Amino acid sequence: MTLTRTTCPYCGVGCGVLAGADGTIKGDPDHPANFGRLCSKGAALGETIDLDGRLLHPKVNGVRTNWDSALDLVASNFSAAIAEHGPESVAFYASGQLLTEDYYVANKLMKGFIGAANMDTNSRLCMASSVAGHKRAFGTDTVPGTYRDLEEADLIVLVGSNLAWCHPVLYQRIAAAKEARPNMRIVNIDPRRTATSDLADLHLSIAPDGDVALFNGLLAHLAEAGRIDANYATAHVNGLAEAVTTAKDTDVADTGLNAPELAAFFDLWARTDKVVTVYSQGVNQSQSGTDKVNAILNCHLATGRIGKPGCGPFSVTGQPNAMGGREVGGLANMLANHLDIADPDHRAAVQAFWDSPTICTTPGLKAVDLFAACAAGKIKALWIMSTNPAVSLPDSDGVAAAIANVPFVVTSDMLEATDTNDLAHVLLPAAGWGEKDGTVTNSERRISRQRAFLETPGEARADWRIISDVAARMGFADAFAYRKPADIFAEYVALDAALSAFPRDLDLSIFADADYANLIPTQWPQDDKRFFADGQFYHPDGKARMVPVTSPALSQPRFALNTGRNRDQWHTMTRTGKSARLGAHLAEPYLEINPCDAVELGAGPGAILKVESPFGSALLRALITDRAPQGQLFAPMHWTRQRTTSGTINSLTAPDVDPVSGQPALKSGGVTATVF
Ligand code: SF4
Repeated sequence: MTLTRTTCPYCGVGCGVLAGADGTIKGDPDHPANFGRLCSKGAALGETIDLDGRLLHPKVNGVRTNWDSALDLVASNFSAAIAEHGPESVAFYASGQLLTEDYYVANKLMKGFIGAANMDTNSRLCMASSVAGHKRAFGTDTVPGTYRDLEEADLIVLVGSNLAWCHPVLYQRIAAAKEARPNMRIVNIDPRRTATSDLADLHLSIAPDGDVALFNGLLAHLAEAGRIDANYATAHVNGLAEAVTTAKDTDVADTGLNAPELAAFFDLWARTDKVVTVYSQGVNQSQSGTDKVNAILNCHLATGRIGKPGCGPFSVTGQPNAMGGREVGGLANMLANHLDIADPDHRAAVQAFWDSPTICTTPGLKAVDLFAACAAGKIKALWIMSTNPAVSLPDSDGVAAAIANVPFVVTSDMLEATDTNDLAHVLLPAAGWGEKDGTVTNSERRISRQRAFLETPGEARADWRIISDVAARMGFADAFAYRKPADIFAEYVALDAALSAFPRDLDLSIFADADYANLIPTQWPQDDKRFFADGQFYHPDGKARMVPVTSPALSQPRFALNTGRNRDQWHTMTRTGKSARLGAHLAEPYLEINPCDAVELGAGPGAILKVESPFGSALLRALITDRAPQGQLFAPMHWTRQRTTSGTINSLTAPDVDPVSGQPALKSGGVTATVF
């Protein structure tokens, strides 16, 4: 069996995979992300490539049609909405599952040819707070770390990250490094005790949203202990004094941790030179998500623990191509190639390169606001690509009603029966993993190829082609005359070269003469170049900024509901749900609850609990465990309305967002629970 070198479609680790049409799956020993390792999800990919449930033909109002009719209908409805109500009346909602080429084309159509910026994605749910925090601190959305830093660090701090389940191969790499160097220390900061905590030397069961207080407390300790690197800060950082003053005013009691726990963490951090702080959704998915990110970055900037091997803050992304999406501007508040919508010079340069008739001038609607606009009747045509917001967004019942309120809804998807497709007027069959070609960028800025090794079934087409075909029918044929993904990648690299006058971190020059067909996994700007090694950042004065951040007022609901992933499932289980082996790990929805809380509710093992919030309710089986702190519940997010009749998790979550990033707070909403 010939095996094709491709990349796993799940998490942001971006592991290399050798895949065959007979379902053979092996870890790619030559891929620098995983060196042959795979986690349970990646190893089971061969069990998920059947055609059960696939959308194989275009459909309009449930009736099969041909591509020309469907594409004509999509283009004419979008054009009519724009003509009658303006470009802001249409929107795209896309996905970190899209390949970079798909993202690039969708972003170009919306921002350069429709002339609005209403293109947001489920990446908003994943790492928007990290993007905002990076831009405030560095002037750019730069992830400075590499995976090798995790192996070279003497202290790894994992904040709001169940790496063992959510980024398993990175966890494996850290576990191997710790085994080789037992003096390496690991601290896990998470309200829950998770599989990741089991590797940690210190687990801090922090109060929900206590992260700003914790890292402000650390910054104050560093200042009081004389551990600030004053020379570094003077030369390379603005805002040190203000940030330290604010930090000293913080009440560390907000962390919920006791004095010995705080002292142990602060002392370990202060006396270890090589520290990597890894953070994920427990930081980002919060109403104070951006401030949490900056509280972490402040500690690294104040001590110069950035830009060196084994040092630095490291945001790990949840999705396979959230990084590629943000590189090409696939968020409502970005332009393209790490440029800003707000900057007229940036807009002019991109418009000139695209030779486009218009360019967006203001940021578009971020995910939660986008669906609120749908509910308010402001969006007349909506195109949802490769994602299932009727289940995955907070207040998902409200989102489903909002989608139903849009006069014209298109979805492009691999599957036919999804909660969102049920609400669409037009279904466009999209090619899936293994069937299409393109590139993805992983959490360490490494661009890898995804390659086809399966026949494309039925009439399915690649997303970039579907979008380009609609663009052509809207009158933009010349600008979207791509014949293959390599054409799009080459244009993306050429755009980057055309923008070289603007100070940016993104630099794709290493791909200028790339052999796309045989592209090997490559980091930008180039392997072994270390961001910020010279102390230069991207604000106009070349310095980084420490942002003074204050701990949010913490509410104390009877129960705080935390949500997240299971080890063996991915998002709404469209692919992993096909594998009986993966399904056997945790076979049904559940609710982690502390034994004391269970006693108080009168809930025995396996009891059914009714969980309610102002937005909805769900019935969940109690999983009584002291891994859940008292007063806190945890439930996985994977089960859709089609997989459970007892209520989905995001029917409970509130559409509250971080005010800076717009990222929803999915980790600590207030709920009640009673025995059903
Ligand atoms: Fe896929 Fe992530 Fe597992 Fe690697 S760690 S095999 S990218 S799910």
